[in-house]
Amino acid sequence: MRIRNLYPGSWGSNCYLLLSGTHAAVVDPSAPVGSILDALREEGAQADCILLTHGHFDHIVSLDALREKTGAPALIHAGDMELPGDASKNAFFTVFGMDRHYRTPNRALTDGARLELGDESIRVIHTPGHTAGSVCYLCGEGDGAFLLTGDTLFAQGVGRTDLYGGNSTQLTASLARLRSLPPELPIDPGHGPSAILGEALDSVNN
Ligand SMILES: [Zn+2]
Ligand SMILES: [Zn+2]
Repeated sequence: MRIRNLYPGSWGSNCYLLLSGTHAAVVDPSAPVGSILDALREEGAQADCILLTHGHFDHIVSLDALREKTGAPALIHAGDMELPGDASKNAFFTVFGMDRHYRTPNRALTDGARLELGDESIRVIHTPGHTAGSVCYLCGEGDGAFLLTGDTLFAQGVGRTDLYGGNSTQLTASLARLRSLPPELPIDPGHGPSAILGEALDSVNN
């Protein structure tokens, strides 16, 4: 599975394309919808689905437009299902004092769910803490595997836990869970540069 970062998305977010043959998944559609569609065209790929790492406004700016243009369903963990549709929960109101909300995603994900992309698979790992429904996506298998960490884990540090649904105790437990994955696994966070899982986890503890 290949990954392409369409940075910059809104407010410095990363927006990723996952590619397997002619199949694509758009992860956190925060880049302008035109640039997402251009990238899909360049890759000769169709968007099978839109995967959300969580429901905060800075990761979903193009969600409705992309759903409209591609017909691709939007998937989010059950715990964040209500976030896009409610500005007080997706943090737009909290940060800007204004209402901005999006359509409710099509499908709720659960921990351990396995998604198909072309001939390859993506595993959902529920990592609550930044929000109740934050997830990491483990993409591919073996040497080619990589982990999308959303705002759960960055190259250095973790996402804030003071917004709706945030919980620092849960975040600590989620990071402990990520310790069970191979430390050399590459990670691609929701903000900032890519990193190596073990080094990113160590940066949190130091
Ligand atoms: Zn967030
Ligand atoms: Zn974010």
